[in-house]
Amino acid sequence: MAITSVKQQQKVPVSFQHEEIVLGLCGVCPEGCVNLIHLVDGKIERLQPIKGDPDSIVCPRGMSAKEVVYSPDRILYPQMRVGERGEGQFKRVTWDQAYEFIVKKLKSISDQFGPQSLAVYTGRGNFEFGLNEIFSPSGTIESSANSVLFPYGSPNTTGVGALCYVSYGMIAPKACFGTYLRDIFEDIENSDLILVWGDNPITDSPPKNFYKIKKAIKRGAKVIVIDHRRSETARALRSEWIGLRPGTDCALALGAINVLIKEDLYDHDFVEKWTHGFDDLKEYVKQFSPEVVEQITWVPAETVRSLGIQIGRSKACSVITYTGLEYSNCGVQSLRAVWTLQALTGSIDVPGGKVFKMPNRIQTNRLLTSKPEGTVKPIGFKEFPLYYEVRNEAHASLFPRAILDNDPYPLRGMIIAGSSIITAWPDPSLWRRALAALDLLVVINRFPTEDSLYADIILPATTMFEIESYMVYDNRVILRKRVIPPQGEARNDYLIFTELANRLGYGNLYPQTEREMIKFALKGTGITIEDLLENPSGVYIPEPKMEYKKYEKGILRKDGIIGFDTQSGKFEIASEWLKAHGYDPLPAYIEPREGPISSPSLAKKYPLVFNSGARTNYDFRSQHHNIPSLVTRHPYPLVHLNTEDASSRGIKEGDIVKVFNSRGQVLFRAHVNANIKEGVVEVNMGGGGPLGSPAWRQSNVNMLTDKDNFDEISGFPVYKALLCDVVKA
Ligand code: SF4
Repeated sequence: MAITSVKQQQKVPVSFQHEEIVLGLCGVCPEGCVNLIHLVDGKIERLQPIKGDPDSIVCPRGMSAKEVVYSPDRILYPQMRVGERGEGQFKRVTWDQAYEFIVKKLKSISDQFGPQSLAVYTGRGNFEFGLNEIFSPSGTIESSANSVLFPYGSPNTTGVGALCYVSYGMIAPKACFGTYLRDIFEDIENSDLILVWGDNPITDSPPKNFYKIKKAIKRGAKVIVIDHRRSETARALRSEWIGLRPGTDCALALGAINVLIKEDLYDHDFVEKWTHGFDDLKEYVKQFSPEVVEQITWVPAETVRSLGIQIGRSKACSVITYTGLEYSNCGVQSLRAVWTLQALTGSIDVPGGKVFKMPNRIQTNRLLTSKPEGTVKPIGFKEFPLYYEVRNEAHASLFPRAILDNDPYPLRGMIIAGSSIITAWPDPSLWRRALAALDLLVVINRFPTEDSLYADIILPATTMFEIESYMVYDNRVILRKRVIPPQGEARNDYLIFTELANRLGYGNLYPQTEREMIKFALKGTGITIEDLLENPSGVYIPEPKMEYKKYEKGILRKDGIIGFDTQSGKFEIASEWLKAHGYDPLPAYIEPREGPISSPSLAKKYPLVFNSGARTNYDFRSQHHNIPSLVTRHPYPLVHLNTEDASSRGIKEGDIVKVFNSRGQVLFRAHVNANIKEGVVEVNMGGGGPLGSPAWRQSNVNMLTDKDNFDEISGFPVYKALLCDVVKA
């Protein structure tokens, strides 16, 4: 791409506006799509995709960049609380005053309770590439947590990883393959059968997989969507839909495995040579006949049989999955069951299947900070040891207990960056009480959140259009150039944290400027900052030639020994790692703890299976409900209700309804349709923040979820397999 900065000639000079097009990265979300950014008089006007660039997409949120960046709701100055916690009364202060207050408080808390009583919690607003690479804790391969308080003596860093991605991207793949998902991809382009299982690629940011699947269909691939909803993806692709009861995906996978084995459709060679635990699995799945699976999943036995047969007969099967499987009592094991099903067909590291990326891809320099020596362990290390092992973090789910009950020790000060805990975690009133009880709460963000109402100090952060940093795609490194100056007094999150380290006396540990940070990251890569400046569309590193079946060639393991990087050296159907920690080594089914089978009397009271967490194209979790062009396309939080369930309750499309269970009641708008399994509801997440329409502000779905109901392996809350009922409000 030759364009770097193109001055456009206006055909009709209707004004004296100066228009410019800059090649840059979208800064609305951390994915950093490479786009042409149209600037008028130095201000962002719109984004435009670059034809032929695989990393260039403008999603609906990217289209709203102008409104996001210049929103009147932006936090533009440091603020200090003047009212009671939760009241949202603040006064403007200088950065110096804010830092002086924070440092004084951190010190006094540390003196009184020890440095472990301080914690950092980061969310997706803090997923900026350079920030994460420099402030990553040591001992983890990828992290969005921030270790800035490690040198101060606190091991307690955590964040949204405790409820998203880590189960799917780290724990489950490590248990099966001995490696993490960042080193694996689904070779959709060459699959003849694509299972979209608990994912909705059309709402991904960006929806790259959706476009790949579309292409695959054109060349004859078959797609099966397995979901409680005939999702937007299923409808757009006109694919087969298998609707199931949420939380029972593992049972469906085991049923398909049962069929695969019975019909002798599995890959004997792969299974014999490269799997560990097949005989135990074979015995275990006998109980998952299609008829039994129908009872559990509500999927007809014939469909279970047909699914197993289609998978068994496919030449190469890929599986697109994500959070749909993470959020049940059986989250990690469901993912393992689905991947085991894929492995039994031999679709592991072959064209069209699940493929390991080649080693020796470009790796920028990370600054890995070690945990403070000799201090106590982080909160949750004992309860969720696998999470701790892969992330070297505390587990955020246990923070309220530490704050309110001093268990395992007091937690008195928190920095929440780029996140919205009260709308993200179950039991918002518990979190409100916890945040209100802290001695210090610092919130770093671009927009006010419900959490920020409880803050002592709010610090204004820049959007990613306003910073200089870098991004690495598989074989491409690109400079994130500053497209517009920081708005108001907002600062790059990176610089906010380095300044905090300075004030705490150890700023010397971190590169002090954005440029120095980029130079540090590039050290040893053979790429220089000059290269990036000269090549605004990025520097490409030739990718090593793809080799398949790497487990046969000693390419998968660092020690060069043939096999997978697991204890057995094989794909572990029976995970030795899980076993060593006392969990079931097989991908065993766990029935949802709250549901028609486990709690039938509760199900009489609340007969609908509650499900939440499906993404939409017009917000980003709790963000953007104040952005006019997005919220007009999704003005109210919805509850999706099957036509039959709605009709038996006298509910019509657009009615205001009450969704309720033993934990609470929340108002939503009814979206009545046949694209959701009967007996199941999908309730929009993300509401409950301080911005946007009253409808969004009032509807925090987590008043209906349960802090005590989680996947015992990952600690992830169950958002997708609970009970509720719906009535007209
Ligand atoms: S996914 Fe959308 S919002 Fe995110 S960087 Fe790409 S265009 Fe921007």
